[in-house]
This record gives sequence, C-alpha cells and structure tokens, in this order.
Amino acid sequence: MERTLVLLKPDCVQRRLMGEIISRFEAKGLNIVGMKMMHVTPDLAKQHYAEHVEKPFYPSLESFITSAPIVALAIDGIEVIRVMRELLGATNGCNAAPGTIRGDFSNSRQMNLVHASDGPEAAVRELKLYFGNGDLCDYDHVAEAFMR
Ligand code: ADP
Ligand code: MG
Repeated sequence: MERTLVLLKPDCVQRRLMGEIISRFEAKGLNIVGMKMMHVTPDLAKQHYAEHVEKPFYPSLESFITSAPIVALAIDGIEVIRVMRELLGATNGCNAAPGTIRGDFSNSRQMNLVHASDGPEAAVRELKLYFGNGDLCDYDHVAEAFMR
C-alpha cells in the first residue's frame, strides 16, 4: 500500500466539482484517510511548489492556488501514487486524454483542477505540509482483501 497527497485546487471547489472528482477516487477503490478544506498561504505555496518557485509561471501559480479554499486529501491504495497521476491525466488540460479528470473537465494549463504527488519522496514531503500527527484516519476497507 502507498499513500499520496491530493489537492482539489481552487477551480475545482469554485466549479462545484469536488463530489464528481472524489467519486472517481472512491469508484477506483482508493481509500480516503484524510480530508481538509483550507486556504493555501503564500508561504505554504512556496513550500508545496518548491521545484517551481524560480519558474516564470510561479507568480501566477501562487496567485491561483492562494485565491480561494482548496481541499487536501490523503489517499491510500495499491500503487496509488502512479494510479492517481494516471487518473488525473497530463498537466495541461488541453493535452489530457478524454477519460482522465483533467481531460474531461479542464482545458487549461494552470487551472487543471487537481494536484497529486509525483513520486514517493514527494508524497512523504507533501503529506507533512498538509496533515499533522493524528490528522489521518487509517482504517481497513472491508473489501480491500478482494482488490489485491
Ligand atoms: P503537475 O501538477 O501535473 O505535477 P507541474 O508540477 O509541472 O504539473 O506544475 C505544477 C502546476 O503548475 C500545474 O498543475 C499547473 O497548475 C501549473 N503549471 C504548470 N506549468 C505551467 C505553465 N507553463 N503555466 C502556468 N501554469 C503552469
Ligand atoms: Mg508536479
């Protein structure tokens, strides 16, 4: 089992797509173990997007991600880091394949609805930015044994 950090970005919340997108995670058989609506501060944005802070698009990205509430999710599942990235689709909604979340709901490079950690180290680092000790509700899914 792996754990990943997912953010429903401001455009997702504003467009009332939270339920639609969380439904896809549940339908896939993934296990939501943490969920928090919150504002991303500029300081948190710089930590979260540390690899992008020096890039030309960063000021716009920071304005966007701090503009309205997001929902942070901690999600468990078999190979969930890779599986979640595949559910999301390509970064730019214009290029994302139909059937993926970004492919179905976004046509934008920046407003692409959802963030997901891109690897195991990123997942550990990012989960700590949004969830503290005791924030997560680890539980066994009744049907988990049948999904292996
Ligand atoms: P991903 O979210 O797929 O991991 P990146 O880590 O490359 O993509 O970029 C982080 C976020 O920054 C993207 O999800 C998108 O919101 C935004 N972004 C990426 N590239 C650009 C760009 N060229 N112009 C504006 N925003 C961008
Ligand atoms: Mg990324």
